[in-house]
Amino acid sequence: MTREEHGVENIAYYNGKIASIEEMMIPMNERSSYFGDGVYDAMFTVERVPLQLDDHLRRFYRSAQRIDIQVPMPFEELRAMVLDFCRRVDSPDQMVYVQATRGVGMRGHAYRFAGGKPSLWVFVKPDMLDPMDRDYACITLEDTRYLYCDIKTINLLPSVLYTQRAEEAGCDEAILHRGERVTECAHSNVHILKGGALQTAPCDNLILPGITRAHRIAQCREMGIEVIEEPFTVAQMMAADEVFFTSASALCCRIATIDGKPVGGKAPELLRRIQDAAWAEAMQEVRAINGHKDA
Ligand code: PLP
Repeated sequence: MTREEHGVENIAYYNGKIASIEEMMIPMNERSSYFGDGVYDAMFTVERVPLQLDDHLRRFYRSAQRIDIQVPMPFEELRAMVLDFCRRVDSPDQMVYVQATRGVGMRGHAYRFAGGKPSLWVFVKPDMLDPMDRDYACITLEDTRYLYCDIKTINLLPSVLYTQRAEEAGCDEAILHRGERVTECAHSNVHILKGGALQTAPCDNLILPGITRAHRIAQCREMGIEVIEEPFTVAQMMAADEVFFTSASALCCRIATIDGKPVGGKAPELLRRIQDAAWAEAMQEVRAINGHKDA
């Protein structure tokens, strides 16, 4: 790829229009602004390659289907548009965001008011993966979200409040629990290592089935590390050998303190193996797309 193919700081798409994120105008009657009536997905790039692009797009179409929205662009066309946008943005480290909403219509709860035409939103902007070579601090908070946590909807008010609380506490992420049972974090999945095994909450309606979670699980199984998909408690987490979180931006990030108390640190080699495997997989993806480059 030549330098000339880049040239924009960020790029956005909304229902056929392409502009910078700052220039894009959205109609007031977008149901997303009144009701959060839509779904999204997000991924991060290395060397302009969106990691696990197909998995994220497949989940995006599934989420839309779950709330009865038809994404108004076929999968292959959206995939091609995303890759084109990634090539056009200056920074090789980017966040890719896709969103489908019920569309535009006079405000009314039932979606017959939507006019029948869903909206498609896409943007690519500079952003970075969370580094794996530092420790992270978390707080715990009661999970008061509703019971659609397995659908990646844009109803993110609880996550916004949890993340703000974490930031105000000088922390990176909020770990959520319903009673004693740990569910997930405000915007990532949380896992523990204990006795050489990886334990993580099962995929039900209390957590988002993270793409990164699925990849870490598959890799652990390949490496012969036992995987237990069963709920764990706050007390089990505090006593675990290691605690880490995963998301599209955090391939495998070690948590060193929770509510100000040190946690983990008892299986650093095992955690390092999982981190190394995560990075190797990312590099493999980069090479598969940018083959000519020494990624
Ligand atoms: N859980 C929640 C609530 C999230 O918002 C996210 C990501 O945004 C995740 C988990 C991690 O999912 P993924 O690995 O697909 O990014």
